[in-house]
Amino acid sequence: MIAKINHIGIAVKSLDERLRFWKALGLKPGETELLASEKVQVSFLPVGESSIELLEPTDGDSPVGRYIEKRGEGIHHIALQVTELDSLLGALEEAGFQVLHGGAQPGADGSRVGFLHPRSCGGVLVELVEEADRKDAPGTMAPGETVLAYLRDPQEKIWGVLRSLDASGIVLEGIDLGSFDDWISQVERGEESVVGPSVVFLPMSRIERVLLDRTSGDIPSLSERFFRRVGRSVLEVLGDCR
Ligand code: ZN
Repeated sequence: MIAKINHIGIAVKSLDERLRFWKALGLKPGETELLASEKVQVSFLPVGESSIELLEPTDGDSPVGRYIEKRGEGIHHIALQVTELDSLLGALEEAGFQVLHGGAQPGADGSRVGFLHPRSCGGVLVELVEEADRKDAPGTMAPGETVLAYLRDPQEKIWGVLRSLDASGIVLEGIDLGSFDDWISQVERGEESVVGPSVVFLPMSRIERVLLDRTSGDIPSLSERFFRRVGRSVLEVLGDCR
């Protein structure tokens, strides 16, 4: 069930500053990923079969922010790669070990993770990671994903949260790409909504392609751009509007 040490998590105040050391060692960081629910930005540096994970809090009032406040920068957790995460967490809980957050939750890069309280593990925060199934991960369009839809007749680009999809078309809670930045500015200023996403049905006959809204290289995804400016995740803000 345990495959290997997946990564070692290190809490840092600034990714840029601390990456300098790891890069000087010759390690190459992957994309920086934002985990909005944990209020943390992470950068993974592969080391052979494992990785070093640097975690920079985006807010002092977050698990990693409070950790740094209390104990300073340093090793934050050890992550073991497992299969069958849910049954393992269940068995550990049954054996009296304290599982945090009530079970598995989404982790970086499409993985699922569970944490064990340091109290249960002699002072070490232990993360269990079940990696995403790479076979179908890149193309998976599931409700709740943020996507970019390219349409024809007339040509349009729409950013949105996928609500449903079937052979007839897709339903998005979306906004024209041209209005996305106006919407961010409006949310940033806390104004009443003039522009904003609405629920639209896009028939298959109009769809040229649909891509997942993902950060690529140095170019942040639209969702991440939104988070960087507003300080809250786009899904959270949309939830408030409903
Ligand atoms: Zn981790």
